[in-house]
Amino acid sequence: MFWQKEIETIGREPLEQLQLERLKQIVRRAYKNVPAYADKFIESGVKPKDITSLADLGKLPFTTREDLRENYPFGLLAMPKEQIVRLHTSSGTTGKPKAIFFTRKDVDQAAELIARCLVMTGTKKDDVLQNIMTYGLFTGALVMHYGAEKVGVLVIPAGPGNTERQISLMQDFKTTAIHVTPSYLLYLANVMQKKRINPTRDLSLKRAYLGAEPYSEETRKKIEESLGIDVYNSYGLTEMNGPGVAFECKEKKGMHLWEDNFLLEVIDPETGQNMPEGEVGELVLTTLCREAMPIIRYRTRDLTRIIPGACSCGRTHRRISRIIGRADDMFIVRGVNIFPQQIERVLMGVRGVAQNYQIILESYDQMTVMVEIMKDIFDGSLEHMLNLKSDIVNKLRAEILVTPKVELLEPGTLPVSEGKAKRVIDKRTL
Ligand SMILES: [Zn+2]
Repeated sequence: MFWQKEIETIGREPLEQLQLERLKQIVRRAYKNVPAYADKFIESGVKPKDITSLADLGKLPFTTREDLRENYPFGLLAMPKEQIVRLHTSSGTTGKPKAIFFTRKDVDQAAELIARCLVMTGTKKDDVLQNIMTYGLFTGALVMHYGAEKVGVLVIPAGPGNTERQISLMQDFKTTAIHVTPSYLLYLANVMQKKRINPTRDLSLKRAYLGAEPYSEETRKKIEESLGIDVYNSYGLTEMNGPGVAFECKEKKGMHLWEDNFLLEVIDPETGQNMPEGEVGELVLTTLCREAMPIIRYRTRDLTRIIPGACSCGRTHRRISRIIGRADDMFIVRGVNIFPQQIERVLMGVRGVAQNYQIILESYDQMTVMVEIMKDIFDGSLEHMLNLKSDIVNKLRAEILVTPKVELLEPGTLPVSEGKAKRVIDKRTL
């Protein structure tokens, strides 16, 4: 099932041709119409005419969150204000928000991308989508709303909260799909269980689109089993229109990133160089179609990797993995970039390992991973302990290419923090 089959299955060569044409155009427009970009280009010694192939992308300067904040509110607009029809903002945890503008064509293009995503997962005209994201300055709900209307589904603009009402809306209007954050969906599933609502018997739900928060494959499986539905990952960010940047197809093996609209790079956050295909790095995106506000080489700070190979659904746009963390969390040991999420993924895949762990950095070539293990494993058998320890060391080395020290601890040894746990203790900078 395709929304725009021709472009979704376009060959690599014509796709790259299209990307190059669009890149040249967007670079010219940014240089001509956005003084902040002209300054950046001059500083980097690059002119629009220097971009003659996609490989020249690396000559262009990055755009950062700070650039967006410094140019708030109108500094990065490439169009006269009377052509702008919509504003969204993204509130960071600190400082000024980032303002993103849309022309009428931008609104329509963002909706087209959502339509591709929904149809790709089996949504049809007769579906009913309950949109449980926040309506307002946040892009999550409105962009999805317009895209779903384009497909022709009935959209219920529920917004989040009021769980009782969410459930009765689902029952009354026979909701078949929901767009929601993973944490709220888990809560919703919990409430249903308490109210003795059996989702497969009492509801018409078939699929859920999850975005805006990171969550694990285990959580997906848990939700799919408890509600009897298909759960699809969605990736987007306000700076790139909001949802619809990348989305899973029915294969659920990574998210197709719409490469005719966004140029995709995965870089080493430290050096800015491209990572080899398949390796984890920071996602960098360039808008190829946006009129109101082109953004060139945007450092998303989100960590992902390109999934090598073709997808059996027939779409040729490359896939990225679920977001595994933030570039800001990265640390370096023996010259190797390491992300705490890599360690976590390995630890959680080892039988007998409990939830709590800590990474201690003591020198530039040594790291220690302290990990709590389950009570029944901590049985006093030295052999068991040594086996488990060497298993963890081997798996970590395979993932991060550095051999860590591993210490096994009894459950309850490490401090339990409320909220975001402090996983990395860097004694080198203290
Ligand atoms: Zn696919």
